[in-house]
Amino acid sequence: ASTGQGAYLVHHGADIANPLGTPLYAPADGTVVFAGPDDQVAVGPTTNFFGIPVVIELDRRYRDQPVYVLLGHMSSTTVTPGQHVQRGQQVGAVGSTGIALGPHVHVEVRIGVNDYDHTVNPEFWLEPLAGHGTVAGRVLTADGRHLPEVPLLFYPGPNFNSPRYYAYTYIDGLGLINPDEQWGENFLLSDLPAGDYLVEATVNG
Ligand SMILES: [Zn+2]
Repeated sequence: ASTGQGAYLVHHGADIANPLGTPLYAPADGTVVFAGPDDQVAVGPTTNFFGIPVVIELDRRYRDQPVYVLLGHMSSTTVTPGQHVQRGQQVGAVGSTGIALGPHVHVEVRIGVNDYDHTVNPEFWLEPLAGHGTVAGRVLTADGRHLPEVPLLFYPGPNFNSPRYYAYTYIDGLGLINPDEQWGENFLLSDLPAGDYLVEATVNG
């Protein structure tokens, strides 16, 4: 589930680079609600944004709401809307269709409504590698508002003497990433080796 450092913070999804034609599999059981070119229907902020995306509504729900997973920029897809797919079933292949700098898959998780304004951090939904986990939290003002773009350093235990991982709190005000309803996070770092961490936030220099 690794992505470009913090890249998902600035554009709704996680980008995972892979060679052109790498098979893409359904991440969970669900029903295809969109598959094919987005030149007629805006699946992202505009038409022709995700090129050939596939959107799957998962069989499972989250807090009584539908969950959608979008895989974008495919070179081709092998599924059609209405089709039920199972976890691990191929749904397409990695490409660079739409607005993409190179072959990669853009992964979005949308909660409640299948549109670009209902994305949450997909790292919450990607299974960590064995022996790894995800740290999520919030950096707040004294009156409880999220502080945007705060640099964070993660010091691994048991000594906590040098930082090894870095992140930023979410950019605010543009609705780019919606915090999880339950966790209310404004930062998240995935695929950390299991263990204790000290997190240091630098506010106003
Ligand atoms: Zn992307």
